[in-house]
Amino acid sequence: MTIYDIIYKKRNNQKLSSEEIEYVITKYTCGEMPDYQMSAFLMAAFIRGLDTEETSALTLAMRDSGKVMDLSDIDGIKVDKHSTGGVGDGTSLIAAPLAACAGLVVPMMAGRGLGHTGGTLDKLESMPGFNVNLSESQFKRQLKKIGVAIIGQTSEIAPADKKIYALRDVTATVDSLPLISASIMSKKLAEGCDALILDIKTGSGAFMKDLSSARQLAQSMVNTGRVFGKKVSAVISDMNQPLGTAVGNELELKQSVEILKGSELPKDFFELSLELAARMLISGNVEKDLTAAKSILRQYLKNGKAFEKFLSIVEAQGGDIRIIDKLEGISKSRKEDILSPQKGYINSINTQSIGLAGILTGAGRKTKEDKIDYSAGFVIHKKIGDFVEINEPLATVYYNTADAAEAKKMFVDAYQIGEVKPGIRPLIYESF
Ligand code: URA
Repeated sequence: MTIYDIIYKKRNNQKLSSEEIEYVITKYTCGEMPDYQMSAFLMAAFIRGLDTEETSALTLAMRDSGKVMDLSDIDGIKVDKHSTGGVGDGTSLIAAPLAACAGLVVPMMAGRGLGHTGGTLDKLESMPGFNVNLSESQFKRQLKKIGVAIIGQTSEIAPADKKIYALRDVTATVDSLPLISASIMSKKLAEGCDALILDIKTGSGAFMKDLSSARQLAQSMVNTGRVFGKKVSAVISDMNQPLGTAVGNELELKQSVEILKGSELPKDFFELSLELAARMLISGNVEKDLTAAKSILRQYLKNGKAFEKFLSIVEAQGGDIRIIDKLEGISKSRKEDILSPQKGYINSINTQSIGLAGILTGAGRKTKEDKIDYSAGFVIHKKIGDFVEINEPLATVYYNTADAAEAKKMFVDAYQIGEVKPGIRPLIYESF
């Protein structure tokens, strides 16, 4: 068996055996397969697809590229949540501490920005010192102590995904159903959770642009989870516009902190965070129905418990809590308003372009080695259905690059403005 033959076979649309898939993953993880061959393999898999058996084999090989954690010595039901990726999606920063407030154990293994989307780890790392690279023993200690820890794939857990994820990000091989399914499920199977809530995004800012591919992805992940004895449920949520009003790491952190301190705005961001956390409570047998779960969670947000739990995560993982007070002035950046060229109702927003415009400000990576500018990004003033006057700000851009002209142009071009007010889209389309 050679790597070349396996790439050749997939390129020619032939089915790969489990052994071949395992061989690719093993060789790449241990450094015996270079990035250029893995890039070719990923592109072949992206274009030709992987069937259910190949996807399961890939998931298993990626899970087994590292350790499968055993959290059975930690009391309580372990519930995690994961999103397939969106723009402005900081719901994990709210849902993880909230679920822990309700007594669940939340062993969250999150990701970095991928393609045009943002990542929970990058948002957390906008707090200086925040360590997402805990060892297994540190991870477990923290789970026992405060019930929640948010980490990245370590060299111990699903290391194959860590390497492949970074490569997919810069080789245009992200939005593939089998690759997303294997990436998420390999981590989730390795991290030792009992139950998992998946937030499958659909729309112009999601990897799954239409509802039917989002449904397929949801089904694929729910089935994989169930085969491995995990209680997995999923919601399909709207990503036809950025969630909330912030795009960029510190800006999103600031928005999340406001919700953790009791604000219920922006409404879509608040509601989705509450919904996902409530579903975690149901999966973890803390509550039976969504309304009751949401009402408990609202109390944690109002009485300061949720914010306290968030601060305990930051403290335990070495983050500089003082940045939270300083978030008011994301003053390190220059800022400029992005003015509307036209008057009318916002009809649609090409959300992928907003994510890409965010990368141009420095808020995301163009190459694997790029350093993120945590203070860069956008604060959005107009969303779908809002009315805008000519020269009224659509958003404010924060940047430290020489200028923000290209990012501003991309942002404006992403907006479609018309005379007729568009209908309201649901925030959640379906749940499984
Ligand atoms: N999140 C992940 O962890 N992996 C993907 O491929 C997409 C989103």
